[in-house]
Amino acid sequence: MVADRIHSPVPATPPSPLGLPAAPFADACARAGLAPRDRALDDYRAFHRTGAIADWMNDAPLAGPIVREQREEVAEGTTVKFLQRIARGAAPDSLPPHAALNVESVIIPMIGRGGARTHTLCVSSQVGCAMGCEFCETARMGLVRSLTPSEIVGQWWAARHILGAPIRNIVFMGMGEPLDNLDAVLDAVAILTDHDGPGLAMSRVTISTVGRIDGLRRLATAMDRPGWRRLGLAVSINAPNDAIRSAIMPINRAMPMAELRDAVLAVPGLGRGRKVCFEYVLIPGVNDEPGHADELADYLRPFTAAGSTDGLTRGMVNVIPYNPRRESPWPAPDEASVERFVERLDAAGLFVRRRRTKGRAMMGACGQLGTDEIRRRK
Ligand code: SF4
Repeated sequence: MVADRIHSPVPATPPSPLGLPAAPFADACARAGLAPRDRALDDYRAFHRTGAIADWMNDAPLAGPIVREQREEVAEGTTVKFLQRIARGAAPDSLPPHAALNVESVIIPMIGRGGARTHTLCVSSQVGCAMGCEFCETARMGLVRSLTPSEIVGQWWAARHILGAPIRNIVFMGMGEPLDNLDAVLDAVAILTDHDGPGLAMSRVTISTVGRIDGLRRLATAMDRPGWRRLGLAVSINAPNDAIRSAIMPINRAMPMAELRDAVLAVPGLGRGRKVCFEYVLIPGVNDEPGHADELADYLRPFTAAGSTDGLTRGMVNVIPYNPRRESPWPAPDEASVERFVERLDAAGLFVRRRRTKGRAMMGACGQLGTDEIRRRK
């Protein structure tokens, strides 16, 4: 009997359908003797398309349960912020033994061209963040740990199949700096855009970064691959010059704006189907003066048609009214100052949009994600 136990195969744990694209998933299942390749492929498709979980997948690590859900009505529909419980994984020892880890995501309704309602899912790439931006709620948690590809894709699965939201766009703008966890983020994008899986269009996925130059260069290489040329890029610029940017975004002290601009201009395909989006969180008394708009316009001139040698527009600006974090030293800007700033950028020749704030009341708006429980313990 002992010999039997020694020689009997160890039951294989199924790989997670959230953590691999279809082909490697089906291969791994067939190799482990869990399911024939064709059946694994069929069940993978059904898992992503309808949310059905085949019996043999039940032991695989699937999406963490939703432990909290908050809804807020906005003009376009309902904004839903939700928290999923995940395993502690490689969380630092400083985290108390019983502290639970939650991942936050936000479903944002949009009215598209032609009046149809679509949904954008804002996903997190880390629990907490190490970047320390002064205006950001998540920064106050510090970095707890990076997420795995399946934990990132699990946010989409929960939004789609637990909460029933048809998701058209994904933006990596939740907790964390995606370029700090780039391998997992790229793996997650490969799964999210797999035709046999979630099947999102690559042009509907956007990675948003504070502009880690080392990470940007690696991302640029990834974006140059066939099938990846329409992946969207957003850069949080938030300041018109190095003095202001360094004061509110510590990354700028090591990676100043001129170098950042060169790294962004080197991203392949700009002007040909891809425009980088510069995000500018407008903070009263910090970066909202008319002169700041002029300086920003000068800085971004090479991204405009008029400022480029080939007449192509390579970038645009998204002005985001600041959402006060807890204990914020700054208020939200008033409507008139947002309008003035946007008009000034527009007059200077930039392609500019302003983002309407959704979810402010429940701390689900941009720069406001963060788990209160962990923050209090720190
Ligand atoms: S704004 Fe983004 S990069 Fe900066 S601290 Fe917050 S989550 Fe991190």
